[in-house]
Amino acid sequence: MKPITTLLKEGVVLGDGGYLIELERRGYVDSGSGREKVGTGKGSGQFTPEVAIENPDALLELHREFLNAGAQVLQALTFFGTREKLTRAGYGAQTEQINVAAVKLAKEVAGERALVAGSVSRTQLVEREGMGALDKARDHIAEQIRLLNDAGADFLIFETFFHLAEMKVALQCGAASGLPAVATISFRPLITKCADGYPPAECAKAMADLGAIAVGANCEQEPRRMLPLLREMRAAVDVPLAAQPAAFRTTDDCHCFTRQPAFPDDLETIQVSRREFVEFGRAARSEGIDYVGGCCGCNPAYIRALSRGLAGAN
Ligand SMILES: [Zn+2]
Repeated sequence: MKPITTLLKEGVVLGDGGYLIELERRGYVDSGSGREKVGTGKGSGQFTPEVAIENPDALLELHREFLNAGAQVLQALTFFGTREKLTRAGYGAQTEQINVAAVKLAKEVAGERALVAGSVSRTQLVEREGMGALDKARDHIAEQIRLLNDAGADFLIFETFFHLAEMKVALQCGAASGLPAVATISFRPLITKCADGYPPAECAKAMADLGAIAVGANCEQEPRRMLPLLREMRAAVDVPLAAQPAAFRTTDDCHCFTRQPAFPDDLETIQVSRREFVEFGRAARSEGIDYVGGCCGCNPAYIRALSRGLAGAN
C-alpha cells in the first residue's frame, strides 16, 4: 500500500466506520449503561476495546465488512485504549495486550488492500480532573502510541478529543513517534467551539501547526450538522481536511448525539439514513474534504453509501 500522505494527494481517501457502537449492538462491547449514566462528559461510560482479546473473531469480521465496503484505511480498535481508561474499566493489566492485538487483527484483514491506522482518543482525564491532568494524559497517550507503533500501525488517527489542549499534547506525542497523524476533534454540545473554548478554525490551525497531515472533525454530529464547522476549518488551513461524522440525528439545541436522551440504549430512534452518507460522499470533493469515513452509528452499509457518493452516484 502507498503511504497515507500519497493517498491523500491522489484523491479523496475513504476510511471506515465506527466500531464500538456497532460491536455493542452485536453484543461484544459493554456500554456501561446497566451500571452508570454514560455520556455525561465526566469520564464515565465504558465503551472500551477489550473485544480485541475477548472476541477477536467479531472484530475481524467487522474489519472485513468495512474492507469489502471499500475502506482504504482500517482503524485498529484502540479507541479508549489508554491505560488510564482501561484501568477504570477493569482492563488496565491488559493494556499492552489489547493494543497489540487490535493492530494485529486490523493488519491481518488489511493485508495489501488497506492501511492500518492506530486510533488514539482522549484519556478522559481532563474531563475528570481538569487541565492539571494534562501531564498525566501525556504519559498515557505516549505509552499507547509506543504500543501502536511497535505493533506496526501505518499512521495515527487522533479522534474524539473534546479539549484542544489535550489534542495538542497528543499531536506532540505523535510527532515524537515519527508516525504521520490525522487529527480530528469533536465538538459538543455545540459545533461553535470545543470544550476548552476554541472555534473550529482555531482548532484546525493549531492541529495543522503541530504537524497533523490532515485535520478535521469526527463523531457527535451527523454529516449535515457537521458540514458548517468543516467549512470553517477548510477556510482556515491548507492541509487536507478529514471528516468522520456520526450517523445520529442531533437537534438545533444540542449538536451532539451523546447528550441526546437516546444515548446509548435508544440510538435506533435517532439513526440517520445511509442516504445522508451518499450525499456526504457526493459533497466531499466540492467541499474540499480529503478524507471521509464514519464514526458512531456508521456500519459497513454507511461506508458503502459513502463510496457510492464519492463515485458520484445518487
Ligand atoms: Zn463516534
